[in-house]
Amino acid sequence: MKAMVLTRIGKLADHPFPLALMELPVPVPGTKDVLIKVSVCGVCHTELDEIEGRTPPPMLPVILGHQTVGHIVAAGEQVSGAFKPGDRVGVAWIFSACGECKFCRAGNENLCPDFLATGRDANGGYAEYMTAPAHFVYPIPPEFSDAEAAPLLCAGAIGYRSLRLTGIQDGDRLGLTGFGASGHLVLKMARYRFPQSEIYVFARSAEERRFAIELGAAWAGESAQTAPHKLDAIIDTTPVWAPIVSALANLEAGGRLVINAIRKEDDRHHLLALDYPEHLWREKEIKSVANITRRDVAEFLQLAADMRLKPEIRIYPLEQANQALSELKTGRIRGAKVLRIG
Ligand SMILES: [Zn+2]
Ligand SMILES: [Zn+2]
Repeated sequence: MKAMVLTRIGKLADHPFPLALMELPVPVPGTKDVLIKVSVCGVCHTELDEIEGRTPPPMLPVILGHQTVGHIVAAGEQVSGAFKPGDRVGVAWIFSACGECKFCRAGNENLCPDFLATGRDANGGYAEYMTAPAHFVYPIPPEFSDAEAAPLLCAGAIGYRSLRLTGIQDGDRLGLTGFGASGHLVLKMARYRFPQSEIYVFARSAEERRFAIELGAAWAGESAQTAPHKLDAIIDTTPVWAPIVSALANLEAGGRLVINAIRKEDDRHHLLALDYPEHLWREKEIKSVANITRRDVAEFLQLAADMRLKPEIRIYPLEQANQALSELKTGRIRGAKVLRIG
Protein backbone atom coordinates (compact mmCIF):
# COMPACT_ATOMS: atom_id res chain seq x y z
CA MET A 1 0.00 0.00 0.00
CA LYS A 2 0.99 3.63 -0.49
CA ALA A 3 1.77 5.65 2.64
CA MET A 4 3.30 9.03 3.48
CA VAL A 5 5.80 8.17 6.21
CA LEU A 6 7.68 10.25 8.79
CA THR A 7 11.25 8.98 9.16
CA ARG A 8 12.97 11.76 11.11
CA ILE A 9 12.22 14.71 13.40
CA GLY A 10 13.19 18.22 12.35
CA LYS A 11 12.02 21.80 11.82
CA LEU A 12 9.84 22.27 8.76
CA ALA A 13 11.90 25.36 7.89
CA ASP A 14 15.02 23.15 7.51
CA HIS A 15 13.27 20.10 6.02
CA PRO A 16 10.22 21.25 4.06
CA PHE A 17 9.43 17.68 2.86
CA PRO A 18 9.33 15.71 6.12
CA LEU A 19 7.18 12.85 4.79
CA ALA A 20 8.30 10.30 2.19
CA LEU A 21 6.02 8.31 -0.11
CA MET A 22 6.63 4.60 0.54
CA GLU A 23 5.22 1.26 -0.51
CA LEU A 24 4.44 -0.78 2.63
CA PRO A 25 2.63 -4.07 3.33
CA VAL A 26 -1.09 -3.80 4.19
CA PRO A 27 -1.29 -4.08 8.03
CA VAL A 28 -2.86 -7.19 9.58
CA PRO A 29 -5.61 -6.51 12.17
CA GLY A 30 -5.23 -7.99 15.67
CA THR A 31 -8.05 -10.04 17.18
CA LYS A 32 -9.85 -6.93 18.52
CA ASP A 33 -9.05 -4.65 15.56
CA VAL A 34 -10.66 -3.68 12.31
CA LEU A 35 -8.80 -3.13 9.03
CA ILE A 36 -9.93 0.05 7.32
CA LYS A 37 -9.50 1.00 3.67
CA VAL A 38 -8.85 4.72 4.05
CA SER A 39 -10.80 7.18 1.95
CA VAL A 40 -9.61 10.51 3.44
CA CYS A 41 -7.51 11.76 6.32
CA GLY A 42 -7.52 15.27 7.79
CA VAL A 43 -4.30 17.23 8.36
CA CYS A 44 -3.90 18.63 11.88
CA HIS A 45 -1.54 21.07 13.57
CA THR A 46 -0.58 18.29 15.97
CA GLU A 47 1.19 16.62 13.05
CA LEU A 48 3.50 19.66 12.90
CA ASP A 49 4.16 19.18 16.64
CA GLU A 50 5.11 15.56 15.94
CA ILE A 51 7.31 16.38 12.94
CA GLU A 52 9.09 19.23 14.72
CA GLY A 53 9.60 17.20 17.91
CA ARG A 54 7.30 18.97 20.38
CA THR A 55 5.34 15.71 20.83
CA PRO A 56 7.59 13.24 19.00
CA PRO A 57 6.46 9.74 18.04
CA PRO A 58 8.12 7.16 20.34
CA MET A 59 9.24 5.14 17.31
CA LEU A 60 10.13 5.95 13.73
CA PRO A 61 9.17 5.44 11.01
CA VAL A 62 5.50 6.18 11.66
CA ILE A 63 2.46 6.95 9.50
CA LEU A 64 0.81 10.17 10.73
CA GLY A 65 -2.89 11.06 10.60
CA HIS A 66 -5.69 10.95 13.19
CA GLN A 67 -8.80 12.18 11.35
CA THR A 68 -9.39 9.16 9.18
CA VAL A 69 -12.55 8.12 7.37
CA GLY A 70 -12.83 4.85 5.44
CA HIS A 71 -14.61 1.52 5.15
CA ILE A 72 -14.01 -1.62 7.17
CA VAL A 73 -12.61 -4.41 4.99
CA ALA A 74 -11.79 -7.01 7.66
CA ALA A 75 -12.29 -7.55 11.40
CA GLY A 76 -10.42 -9.63 14.03
CA GLU A 77 -12.06 -12.73 15.56
CA GLN A 78 -13.03 -10.98 18.80
CA VAL A 79 -14.71 -8.01 17.15
CA SER A 80 -18.39 -8.21 18.09
CA GLY A 81 -21.32 -7.69 15.75
CA ALA A 82 -21.27 -3.89 16.04
CA PHE A 83 -19.10 -3.54 12.95
CA LYS A 84 -18.94 -5.49 9.74
CA PRO A 85 -17.05 -5.21 6.46
CA GLY A 86 -18.44 -2.38 4.34
CA ASP A 87 -19.31 -0.10 7.29
CA ARG A 88 -18.10 3.48 7.03
CA VAL A 89 -16.16 4.52 10.14
CA GLY A 90 -13.86 7.21 11.48
CA VAL A 91 -10.76 7.06 13.67
CA ALA A 92 -9.81 9.98 15.93
CA TRP A 93 -6.79 10.99 18.06
CA ILE A 94 -7.58 8.46 20.80
CA PHE A 95 -6.24 5.15 19.43
CA SER A 96 -6.67 3.29 22.74
CA ALA A 97 -6.61 3.57 26.55
CA CYS A 98 -6.24 0.88 29.24
CA GLY A 99 -9.89 0.83 30.35
CA GLU A 100 -8.91 -0.05 33.94
CA CYS A 101 -7.10 2.86 35.60
CA LYS A 102 -8.87 5.46 37.77
CA PHE A 103 -9.07 7.90 34.86
CA CYS A 104 -10.55 5.36 32.45
CA ARG A 105 -13.05 4.16 35.07
CA ALA A 106 -14.22 7.74 35.61
CA GLY A 107 -14.68 8.34 31.88
CA ASN A 108 -11.50 10.42 31.62
CA GLU A 109 -9.70 8.02 29.31
CA ASN A 110 -8.04 11.06 27.70
CA LEU A 111 -5.89 11.25 30.87
CA CYS A 112 -5.02 7.51 30.98
CA PRO A 113 -1.28 6.96 31.54
CA ASP A 114 -1.43 4.30 28.81
CA PHE A 115 -3.23 6.60 26.34
CA LEU A 116 -2.07 5.87 22.80
CA ALA A 117 -2.51 8.47 20.06
CA THR A 118 -3.38 7.59 16.49
CA GLY A 119 -0.69 8.56 14.02
CA ARG A 120 1.92 9.04 16.77
CA ASP A 121 1.99 5.97 19.04
CA ALA A 122 0.36 3.79 16.35
CA ASN A 123 0.23 4.13 12.57
CA GLY A 124 -2.47 6.49 11.33
CA GLY A 125 -4.36 7.37 8.19
CA TYR A 126 -1.87 8.96 5.77
CA ALA A 127 -2.02 5.58 3.98
CA GLU A 128 -4.29 3.36 1.91
CA TYR A 129 -5.04 1.09 4.89
CA MET A 130 -4.86 1.26 8.67
CA THR A 131 -5.92 -0.88 11.61
CA ALA A 132 -7.61 0.37 14.80
CA PRO A 133 -9.20 -1.26 17.88
CA ALA A 134 -12.91 -1.79 17.10
CA HIS A 135 -13.83 -0.11 20.42
CA PHE A 136 -12.21 3.12 19.19
CA VAL A 137 -13.88 3.62 15.81
CA TYR A 138 -17.11 5.53 15.18
CA PRO A 139 -19.88 5.25 12.61
CA ILE A 140 -19.96 8.38 10.45
CA PRO A 141 -23.44 9.99 10.23
CA PRO A 142 -24.87 9.86 6.69
CA GLU A 143 -25.22 13.67 6.62
CA PHE A 144 -21.51 14.00 5.87
CA SER A 145 -19.29 13.12 2.92
CA ASP A 146 -16.00 11.42 3.83
CA ALA A 147 -14.07 14.67 3.37
CA GLU A 148 -16.56 16.72 5.40
CA ALA A 149 -16.39 14.22 8.25
CA ALA A 150 -12.57 14.08 8.53
CA PRO A 151 -11.97 17.50 10.18
CA LEU A 152 -14.87 16.84 12.55
CA LEU A 153 -12.92 13.95 14.07
CA CYS A 154 -10.23 16.19 15.57
CA ALA A 155 -10.72 19.92 15.08
CA GLY A 156 -14.46 19.52 15.70
CA ALA A 157 -14.38 16.96 18.51
CA ILE A 158 -11.60 18.70 20.44
CA GLY A 159 -13.45 21.99 19.90
CA TYR A 160 -16.51 20.35 21.43
CA ARG A 161 -14.47 19.24 24.44
CA SER A 162 -12.98 22.74 24.82
CA LEU A 163 -16.42 24.32 24.74
CA ARG A 164 -17.62 21.81 27.34
CA LEU A 165 -14.64 22.62 29.58
CA THR A 166 -15.41 26.37 29.53
CA GLY A 167 -18.51 25.62 31.62
CA ILE A 168 -20.36 28.56 30.04
CA GLN A 169 -24.14 29.01 30.22
CA ASP A 170 -26.32 30.51 27.51
CA GLY A 171 -25.87 34.29 27.63
CA ASP A 172 -22.27 34.24 28.89
CA ARG A 173 -19.75 36.03 26.69
CA LEU A 174 -17.28 33.70 24.95
CA GLY A 175 -13.93 34.63 23.42
CA LEU A 176 -12.01 32.63 20.80
CA THR A 177 -8.30 33.29 20.43
CA GLY A 178 -7.12 31.91 17.08
CA PHE A 179 -9.51 31.17 14.27
CA GLY A 180 -8.29 28.09 12.38
CA ALA A 181 -10.09 24.83 11.71
CA SER A 182 -11.09 24.30 15.34
CA GLY A 183 -11.95 27.95 16.04
CA HIS A 184 -14.46 28.26 13.23
CA LEU A 185 -16.19 25.00 14.18
CA VAL A 186 -16.37 26.12 17.84
CA LEU A 187 -17.97 29.40 16.78
CA LYS A 188 -20.69 27.53 14.86
CA MET A 189 -21.24 25.09 17.74
CA ALA A 190 -21.40 27.87 20.32
CA ARG A 191 -23.92 29.83 18.25
CA TYR A 192 -26.09 26.71 18.07
CA ARG A 193 -25.85 25.64 21.71
CA PHE A 194 -25.70 29.10 23.33
CA PRO A 195 -27.77 31.37 21.05
CA GLN A 196 -27.86 34.20 23.63
CA SER A 197 -24.08 34.28 24.02
CA GLU A 198 -22.01 36.90 22.20
CA ILE A 199 -18.79 35.62 20.67
CA TYR A 200 -15.60 37.67 20.45
CA VAL A 201 -12.84 36.50 18.08
CA PHE A 202 -9.15 37.38 18.29
CA ALA A 203 -7.32 36.46 15.07
CA ARG A 204 -4.04 37.38 13.41
CA SER A 205 -5.26 37.94 9.85
CA ALA A 206 -7.87 40.37 8.54
CA GLU A 207 -9.35 37.56 6.43
CA GLU A 208 -9.90 35.39 9.51
CA ARG A 209 -11.55 38.32 11.29
CA ARG A 210 -13.88 38.96 8.34
CA PHE A 211 -14.74 35.25 8.24
CA ALA A 212 -15.56 35.34 11.99
CA ILE A 213 -17.98 38.25 11.52
CA GLU A 214 -19.57 36.47 8.53
CA LEU A 215 -20.18 33.47 10.80
CA GLY A 216 -21.89 35.61 13.42
CA ALA A 217 -19.18 36.81 15.82
CA ALA A 218 -20.27 39.95 17.72
CA TRP A 219 -16.76 41.42 17.42
CA ALA A 220 -13.39 40.48 15.90
CA GLY A 221 -10.02 42.05 16.65
CA GLU A 222 -6.32 41.32 16.79
CA SER A 223 -4.93 39.11 19.57
CA ALA A 224 -3.51 41.99 21.61
CA GLN A 225 -6.67 44.12 21.44
CA THR A 226 -8.98 44.80 24.35
CA ALA A 227 -12.49 43.51 23.71
CA PRO A 228 -15.39 45.94 24.34
CA HIS A 229 -16.61 43.70 27.21
CA LYS A 230 -14.96 41.36 29.71
CA LEU A 231 -15.45 37.74 28.67
CA ASP A 232 -16.70 34.89 30.87
CA ALA A 233 -14.58 32.30 29.09
CA ILE A 234 -11.99 32.25 26.32
CA ILE A 235 -10.80 29.28 24.27
CA ASP A 236 -7.26 29.60 22.94
CA THR A 237 -6.49 27.43 19.90
CA THR A 238 -3.18 29.04 18.92
CA PRO A 239 0.09 27.09 18.98
CA VAL A 240 1.95 29.95 20.73
CA TRP A 241 2.20 31.81 24.06
CA ALA A 242 2.00 35.29 22.53
CA PRO A 243 -1.78 35.87 22.93
CA ILE A 244 -2.15 34.29 26.39
CA VAL A 245 -1.51 37.33 28.58
CA SER A 246 -3.89 39.55 26.58
CA ALA A 247 -6.49 36.78 26.75
CA LEU A 248 -6.20 36.81 30.57
CA ALA A 249 -6.57 40.60 30.53
CA ASN A 250 -9.84 40.23 28.58
CA LEU A 251 -11.23 37.68 31.03
CA GLU A 252 -14.02 38.57 33.50
CA ALA A 253 -13.48 37.93 37.25
CA GLY A 254 -14.04 34.23 37.89
CA GLY A 255 -13.61 33.57 34.18
CA ARG A 256 -11.79 30.64 32.65
CA LEU A 257 -9.18 30.48 29.90
CA VAL A 258 -9.22 27.06 28.20
CA ILE A 259 -6.01 26.34 26.29
CA ASN A 260 -6.63 23.84 23.51
CA ALA A 261 -3.10 22.98 22.42
CA ILE A 262 -1.05 19.83 22.85
CA ARG A 263 2.18 21.86 22.98
CA LYS A 264 3.10 25.53 22.76
CA GLU A 265 5.95 26.83 20.64
CA ASP A 266 9.04 28.24 22.32
CA ASP A 267 7.96 31.88 22.72
CA ARG A 268 7.39 31.79 26.47
CA HIS A 269 9.18 35.13 26.97
CA HIS A 270 5.72 36.66 26.32
CA LEU A 271 4.66 35.38 29.73
CA LEU A 272 7.02 37.88 31.42
CA ALA A 273 4.27 40.48 30.81
CA LEU A 274 2.05 38.57 33.26
CA ASP A 275 0.87 40.86 36.07
CA TYR A 276 -0.84 38.99 38.90
CA PRO A 277 -3.50 41.57 39.85
CA GLU A 278 -4.44 42.36 36.26
CA HIS A 279 -4.28 38.90 34.72
CA LEU A 280 -4.93 36.27 37.39
CA TRP A 281 -6.33 37.69 40.61
CA ARG A 282 -10.11 37.66 41.21
CA GLU A 283 -10.25 33.92 40.63
CA LYS A 284 -9.39 33.69 36.98
CA GLU A 285 -8.59 30.13 35.93
CA ILE A 286 -6.46 28.51 33.26
CA LYS A 287 -7.34 24.99 32.14
CA SER A 288 -5.70 22.96 29.38
CA VAL A 289 -7.43 20.44 27.10
CA ALA A 290 -5.65 17.09 26.84
CA ASN A 291 -6.49 14.57 24.16
CA ILE A 292 -10.03 13.39 23.74
CA THR A 293 -12.43 10.68 24.93
CA ARG A 294 -14.66 8.38 22.88
CA ARG A 295 -17.65 10.11 24.43
CA ASP A 296 -16.47 13.48 23.07
CA VAL A 297 -16.11 12.09 19.55
CA ALA A 298 -19.42 10.20 19.56
CA GLU A 299 -21.45 13.05 21.12
CA PHE A 300 -19.90 15.60 18.86
CA LEU A 301 -20.58 13.61 15.65
CA GLN A 302 -24.25 13.44 16.67
CA LEU A 303 -24.36 17.18 17.46
CA ALA A 304 -22.64 17.96 14.15
CA ALA A 305 -25.23 15.87 12.29
CA ASP A 306 -28.13 17.54 14.15
CA MET A 307 -26.89 21.02 13.34
CA ARG A 308 -25.64 20.12 9.84
CA LEU A 309 -22.20 21.41 10.78
CA LYS A 310 -20.13 21.42 7.61
CA PRO A 311 -16.50 22.45 7.90
CA GLU A 312 -14.86 24.44 5.14
CA ILE A 313 -12.38 22.05 3.53
CA ARG A 314 -9.56 22.02 1.06
CA ILE A 315 -8.58 18.69 -0.50
CA TYR A 316 -5.07 17.53 -1.46
CA PRO A 317 -3.96 14.17 -2.93
CA LEU A 318 -2.07 11.95 -0.43
CA GLU A 319 1.19 12.58 -2.28
CA GLN A 320 0.87 16.32 -1.50
CA ALA A 321 0.78 15.83 2.29
CA ASN A 322 4.01 17.85 2.65
CA GLN A 323 2.44 20.79 0.82
CA ALA A 324 -0.70 20.60 2.98
CA LEU A 325 1.46 20.61 6.14
CA SER A 326 3.52 23.57 5.01
CA GLU A 327 0.37 25.54 4.10
CA LEU A 328 -1.00 24.73 7.54
CA LYS A 329 2.22 25.99 9.13
CA THR A 330 2.14 29.32 7.27
CA GLY A 331 -1.62 29.68 7.74
CA ARG A 332 -2.07 31.22 4.31
CA ILE A 333 -4.81 28.93 2.98
CA ARG A 334 -8.21 29.00 4.68
CA GLY A 335 -10.22 25.89 5.56
CA ALA A 336 -9.48 22.49 7.06
CA LYS A 337 -7.00 20.45 5.02
CA VAL A 338 -7.93 16.92 3.99
CA LEU A 339 -5.90 14.29 2.11
CA ARG A 340 -7.79 12.22 -0.48
CA ILE A 341 -6.49 8.66 -0.51
CA GLY A 342 -8.95 6.12 -1.91
ZN1 LIG B 1 -5.68 16.78 15.57
ZN1 LIG C 1 -6.54 3.95 31.68
